[in-house]
Amino acid sequence: MSTVYYTTMRGTRWDYRESVNGRLERMLAGSGLMGRYAKDEWVAVKTHFGSDGAHRVVRPNFLKRVVDAVRMSGAKPFVTDTVRIMGLDYLEVANGNGINHLSVGAPVVLADGLYGKDNILVKAGEILGEIAVASLIHDVPAMVVVSHIKGHIQAGYAGAIKNLAMGGVSSAHREHGWKKGRGKMHCYGEVPLQWDAEVCTFCAQCENVCPKEAVAFKDEKFAYNEKECWACGRCARVCPSGALVLPADDTTFQKSLAEASAAVLSTFKPGKVLYLNFMTEIQPECDCMPSCDTPMLQDQGIMLSDDVVAIEKATIDMLRKASPLPQSVASDRECAPGDDVLSIVNPRNFMLQVEHAEALGLGSQEYELVEV
Ligand code: SF4
Ligand code: SF4
Repeated sequence: MSTVYYTTMRGTRWDYRESVNGRLERMLAGSGLMGRYAKDEWVAVKTHFGSDGAHRVVRPNFLKRVVDAVRMSGAKPFVTDTVRIMGLDYLEVANGNGINHLSVGAPVVLADGLYGKDNILVKAGEILGEIAVASLIHDVPAMVVVSHIKGHIQAGYAGAIKNLAMGGVSSAHREHGWKKGRGKMHCYGEVPLQWDAEVCTFCAQCENVCPKEAVAFKDEKFAYNEKECWACGRCARVCPSGALVLPADDTTFQKSLAEASAAVLSTFKPGKVLYLNFMTEIQPECDCMPSCDTPMLQDQGIMLSDDVVAIEKATIDMLRKASPLPQSVASDRECAPGDDVLSIVNPRNFMLQVEHAEALGLGSQEYELVEV
């Protein structure tokens, strides 16, 4: 049975030690888990930088506590993510969301280079074959995976497994493009994007969100640059009329997330990766989208574990008991306390991520929750 440490977001005493910052510090120190990092070892603190319009990321004050805990262990931390838009712009996004060297107390770098092409092919499972793991994540000996928990239109639930898989892999491989990159998980089959002229309203939202300018409309004609496309699926996700489709299959997608996580973890020695799940500002969509909604579930707190399967199971169990929030998509869908809000808002079989990760030997769904 794996241990999952937990601290609530409630603050009921006027005492720094009982603040979330204070309890996060105590949880990191008291767990003993930081002791597994060696002196002067480089440790990646892997998070998601968000987007220009999606500010609900793990806050810099929390990242700073993680960085400080790694440093106190004697190791050398840095904060990182893989590119979601071209790298220089993505570093500006990180800075805009408050994540920079000054705020987090460590260098903030991109794991797959400014062009997102620095990666190494790693053997993955039956679905993916091999996948382009960001070279920095491939090479670094240790990592803390800091995940902002939220819903996701394709994954249903986005936590540590998705952060490892989508976040540990580059958008594209230098030679093989999206077919060995993140797009391989998003897309099922060889045709990355299909457009239906009959239902398109020419609203241009797809064009606005494309990180590669791979879709455009000229004189009401659809121009698609397949060579540039990362198959990230953003255009299809924002299309209000269903005119754009990225062919995908839920079972394949959920299992491929577990496969990619296993590929990323295969580049580390056992025990060198820790996980922190932040159940805060739980919005319905991914942090990479061009805007974010109000949170749909009440803040629950922070979990810490060295078992990715256990922490994901514990997080989902807790979210299933969390109260839906008014003035959010949860109230739009008339969710009541006790409802499985994640499944109602984005009906996907997200438990498959966890089950397949367990089947691949990444951890156990059996856990003990230890409250700090
Ligand atoms: S988002 Fe959809 S409806 Fe809008 S222009 Fe693009 S394809 Fe057409
Ligand atoms: S899937 Fe859509 S948004 Fe993503 S790169 Fe391709 S065209 Fe652009």
